[in-house]
Amino acid sequence: MNQSGMEIDTLRAEIVATAQRACQSSLMAGTSGNLSVYDPQTGCMAITPSGMDYSLMTPSDIVLMKLDGTVIDGTRRPSSEWRMHSVLYRELPDVRAVVHTHAPNATAFAVLRREIPCVLVEMLLFLKGSIEVAEYAPQGSEAVGTNCLPILQRKPACLLASHGVVTVGDSLSQAYRSSIYAEDAAHIVRLAMSTGQPIPAVIDEEGSKAIHA
Ligand code: 13P
Ligand code: ZN
Repeated sequence: MNQSGMEIDTLRAEIVATAQRACQSSLMAGTSGNLSVYDPQTGCMAITPSGMDYSLMTPSDIVLMKLDGTVIDGTRRPSSEWRMHSVLYRELPDVRAVVHTHAPNATAFAVLRREIPCVLVEMLLFLKGSIEVAEYAPQGSEAVGTNCLPILQRKPACLLASHGVVTVGDSLSQAYRSSIYAEDAAHIVRLAMSTGQPIPAVIDEEGSKAIHA
């Protein structure tokens, strides 16, 4: 990846730490979900291994691979969703990290194939509005990624029909933060919907000043 072995080690450790954090935050159950980081200079991505318990994962389990599927370094099988990650890096030139989860509240909307309305100012600021649903594609197929493109070209988060959530960012911390906001929004909308009809969020001039102050 970023040339020096030390940088690669740091990156692998960051991916494991973020995956474990996501697991502890209940964004992924069991071995579901996967994360990656891309380096356009080398054309390589570092991605979580397939089907591995996050609590047992160590930096050496992270797989380095080219976007065409060629494994450069690592002894584990790369995530079965590597094609989705690869398509997102190929087609979205500013994206450097991808986080895919089966976070329960957001995935509840994904299985209903229902958009999560924009009801919080954080959604406007961090997710660029509502969270839309990408057309269904079988898990592991390249189409999981291509079907997200019309949404992820405009926004950092989308729902995968009957599957989960994917977020992108210019860093792993940014993509991770979007996945936290997506799950939080889904949770709040679900709670609100159990009592009434959520009202869309707007930022007036005062609010915008306060937020950006
Ligand atoms: P992997 O364990 O192969 O990454 O698969 C998990 C997943 O979420 C599939 O969609
Ligand atoms: Zn999945």
